Amino acid sequence: MQTQAQPQDKEIQAETEIEVRDLEIRYGAVAAVGPVSFSVPKGKQLTLLGPSGCGKSTTLRAIAGLEKPAAGVIKIGDRNMYSSAENLNIPAEDRGLSMVFQSYAIWPHMTVYDNVAYGLKVRRKNREEIDAGVKRALALVQMEAYASRPASQLSGGQQQRVALARACAFSPEVLLFDEPLSNLDAKLRGDMRIELRELQHSLGVTSIYVTHDLEEALAMSDCIVVMNKGRIEQSGTPYEIYNYPRTAFVADFVGSSNLISGTVREDLSSGNDVVIETQGGELIHGNTHGRKRGSQATLSVRTVHLQLSSQRPAGDRNVWQVTIARSVFLGDLSEIHVEWGGRKLIIRRSALDRMEEGQQVFLSVDPNRCVLLEDDAPAA
Ligand code: ADP
Repeated sequence: MQTQAQPQDKEIQAETEIEVRDLEIRYGAVAAVGPVSFSVPKGKQLTLLGPSGCGKSTTLRAIAGLEKPAAGVIKIGDRNMYSSAENLNIPAEDRGLSMVFQSYAIWPHMTVYDNVAYGLKVRRKNREEIDAGVKRALALVQMEAYASRPASQLSGGQQQRVALARACAFSPEVLLFDEPLSNLDAKLRGDMRIELRELQHSLGVTSIYVTHDLEEALAMSDCIVVMNKGRIEQSGTPYEIYNYPRTAFVADFVGSSNLISGTVREDLSSGNDVVIETQGGELIHGNTHGRKRGSQATLSVRTVHLQLSSQRPAGDRNVWQVTIARSVFLGDLSEIHVEWGGRKLIIRRSALDRMEEGQQVFLSVDPNRCVLLEDDAPAA
């Protein structure tokens, strides 16, 4: 799989714990996923990110052993768990992993203690081992005080903590999370995100996390795999994915971007500097960040990287005079629309500094923030 090598990538050199190679999953004749390939280093968290229906859960369930793939290899540690070539498909319970679901899947009629003990009992641990395992797991999620309470008498956040404790109780090598926070309210989701990240670090467990929530993915992951229609669009660190989107899809899904297409002005471009002339006749300077360029190109410019000012900024590259067409107050931010080169550009900026519709201002952007999309990426 192609990724842009960035300095932030250095840490992804640890020993591989999970490897997914050329994995394909079908439902009847319909190809739901694949082929996809990615790997997770030991102790790291990888997130599968993408819109609903792109194949994230199906991929995760195949790794868990809950879905039988059509082709490829799934390796955990040094063991193949699934291999189409070897006709091998190890059952879920023998894969040494644990899964946390969106729906919690805890038993309401059982106490917190019994819910957490369940996984240890089915693994035939003795009483002392079960007791020690439950106490350790409940302490991890700060739920020791609730051990004897029926699970039905817990809040959503507490239930999700119990589900987490249950998943951690038998010290699995690998933890899989399928949108575990999506049933919680926004505030609790933000808190649990941090708790989960800390838990994953302190356990040193290798994990794969599925979400459609961009912020969750950026905040929690060592590596993000962006999926679209069953395929991988890009994989890399959160920093890379956000700053150097490879395709129009990633640029748009991972934060909001303006996609600016045009003809490359070879006479003005050299090295990593690329200048594009739009259909409307505007020239915009961008940076290839080492990517190949053709004669037509698309630049991704994040809405938060475009600057507006009433005074002309210094420099003459990427500075234009524009009129504010629309200004929408969004609380922390304002979304401003301007007409530029016969099209609309969207700018997000602090709402403190108000700009009125009809006002003439200067629009500018650092050329390094105008990122060339890859040549083979779908056109904007
Ligand atoms: P995501 O987790 O990204 O929302 P899924 O992995 O659940 O997506 O689904 C991927 C694709 O597979 C979708 O097109 C979905 O409709 C299809 N799919 C998922 N589960 C089944 C199933 N049990 N039977 C048939 N099609 C399915």
